[in-house]
Amino acid sequence: MIRIVTLEPFDAGDIAFLSRTLFQAFGLGTEHAGDRPLPAEAAGDDDRYDGPKLVAEVQPVKTFADDKVLYLTSAPLSIAAGPLGEPPCWSYAQYGGEKAVVSTSRFPARGVSEASIETWRKRLARESIHAVGHMWDLHHCYDARCAMHPSWSPALAQAPEAELCNFDREKSERKIRLAKT
Ligand SMILES: [Zn+2]
Ligand SMILES: [Zn+2]
Repeated sequence: MIRIVTLEPFDAGDIAFLSRTLFQAFGLGTEHAGDRPLPAEAAGDDDRYDGPKLVAEVQPVKTFADDKVLYLTSAPLSIAAGPLGEPPCWSYAQYGGEKAVVSTSRFPARGVSEASIETWRKRLARESIHAVGHMWDLHHCYDARCAMHPSWSPALAQAPEAELCNFDREKSERKIRLAKT
């Protein structure tokens, strides 16, 4: 089960679209587990929230074995800089773990037309598949059409599709099957 937790109110249609897409990508049931406040402990001094601290400090939701919890926020995120500096942060996931957070702060404007809302929803779904993929041990993928391709990559389409390549789909199916037995 994937439990979506919103850190502010989200549009019900956005969450319904996301639930459907996550189910299609992973074959796992998805539910909206409610709202939680953004944890103040994770707030940095530059208006951004520290990704690892956010998922560590946020109020917990009830989970069962192998549940994944996906937090959604519009607040910008930060992560510690690596040897190549700090990459633009779209999401943070506990690798092979239980919790991840996706930020909508870098998405193109949601707009009001049906087409721009559709693009925005697809982006939310893509970044969520990416974060959930890391929780199922998926690495970054060279295929720019795959949701595991890095979110900051210049090769990524302007309005990317929300799906996994065959390799990553099969790998996640294998991991999920193993976790269930
Ligand atoms: Zn990633
Ligand atoms: Zn892939």
